[in-house]
Amino acid sequence: MRENSTFQNFINGEWVSTERHFRNVNPVDGSLIGLVHEAGSSEVDAAVKAARAALSGPWGRFSVQERVELLYAIADGINRRFDDFLAAEIADTGKPQSLASHLDIPRGAANFKIFADVIKNAPTESFEMATPNGGKALNYAIRVPKGVVGVICPWNLPLLLMTWKVGPALACGNAVIVKPSEETPGTATLLGEVMNEVGVPPGVYNVVHGFGPGSAGEYLTTHREVNAITFTGETRTGEAIMKAAANGTRPVSFELGGKNAAIVFADCDFDKAIEGVTRSAFANSGQVCLGTERVYVQRPIFDKFVTALKVKAESMKPGNPYDKEVNFGPLISQEHQQKVLSYYARAQADGATVIAGGGVPQFDGKLAEGSWVQPTIWTGLPETSAVIQEEIFGPCCHIAPFDTEEEVVGLANASEYGLCTSVWTSNIGTAHRLAASIEVGLCWINSWFLRDLRTPFGGSKASGIGREGGVHSLEFYTELRNICIQL
Ligand code: NAD
Repeated sequence: MRENSTFQNFINGEWVSTERHFRNVNPVDGSLIGLVHEAGSSEVDAAVKAARAALSGPWGRFSVQERVELLYAIADGINRRFDDFLAAEIADTGKPQSLASHLDIPRGAANFKIFADVIKNAPTESFEMATPNGGKALNYAIRVPKGVVGVICPWNLPLLLMTWKVGPALACGNAVIVKPSEETPGTATLLGEVMNEVGVPPGVYNVVHGFGPGSAGEYLTTHREVNAITFTGETRTGEAIMKAAANGTRPVSFELGGKNAAIVFADCDFDKAIEGVTRSAFANSGQVCLGTERVYVQRPIFDKFVTALKVKAESMKPGNPYDKEVNFGPLISQEHQQKVLSYYARAQADGATVIAGGGVPQFDGKLAEGSWVQPTIWTGLPETSAVIQEEIFGPCCHIAPFDTEEEVVGLANASEYGLCTSVWTSNIGTAHRLAASIEVGLCWINSWFLRDLRTPFGGSKASGIGREGGVHSLEFYTELRNICIQL
């Protein structure tokens, strides 16, 4: 319940308060949204027990069709309270209303319907075999839920990325315990209200609030009765969670960090490439795992590209998220602002030419207390610079020239990460060759963040483990059981 702007834990369909609280702060102006009740190990344990009980209660006996109908009701429940979800997401993140109302909330609701449709239509295999005694046997597979699934979420697209996991988990008949980011407790909490409103059985959806180490995140991931862990966040956090999951050999699905390259060939549709890279570098203030922080532009159009992207960066409009013309929000927190600004300083120390931004936008009044940074573009850095090697997760990119296809493939792949790339070219041969050569989970050609939710989503190298989306989500959220019948 969020009464008086407190954020309680949601366990077994009930609101649970605790003695320990932490502050939820609005990054637009540093104001206090409310206090969050931090779950300790006993609350996490209660949530695990509630989830386990739900699996052996009515929820465990729901037919696929009953689950499908309930998932549709959850989606409709979110849409009925669209404005509440929008306000909660904007308060927690400061992102412009224009973005949250088109992306975060609609997709948050749609994720339940999409995975309801997937599970309704998912076939399993069947094989007939000859047996040594001259008879026959029939094999068929069924999908059973993994059980209790721990869902650890980041703050950049809170509702969207949380439901991207909760949707398929519930579609497959699991019970979940969500640990939202400490920065963005709002929409996960609000979803608890919707779950009760539409009649989701107690214990199927639980929310525990808190941090990582020494808090709810660690208690949840180390809990032996959590059967599987799905996580979106930083690669380093993924390493810690993987160690926790080793205890009990529990499976993980990881969507991790990126240091994504955009590759712009001289034969591209220039205006479309500029539009695309503007979005991929600066949307959500660069706090998108799929965002572009490295741009490689073929030499004949390099100067023209840098000049055009500078104009775009300097025309971004930061400010109050509810103002119609505002298209640029703050960073999530002052801590993250300090991290991003440390890279801004590092770029200058490493000899970058600052093409745009590089600092903090100036505001009068309350917004001066927010965690803002300017959209920033650099050129001239060596590829060895930390600014080019490490994920910054801010509204910034470095632009470097290249000459040949072979050279740019080498540059793009010289990263520990491998989440996504976007290639801008009008040559179909170049497009196919690049798509096959860049070591990523997702490759966009002449586009970015264009998502068909039936397709596999995830990263290679240090950007993830496994794929979610469409039927691929079933691989993680169900266990396939083969049944062999001697006929
Ligand atoms: P984060 O790793 O700091 O935190 C994510 C979550 O993990 C939070 O809920 C946090 O409390 C929890 N956590 C932290 N330490 C933990 C521990 N030891 N045990 C259990 N839980 C722990 O990430 P963030 O800063 O919230 O999000 C930004 C990161 O997420 C970026 O690296 C970004 O690239 C990545 N991301 C990836 C994708 C993707 O699909 N690949 C999508 C969005 C964000």
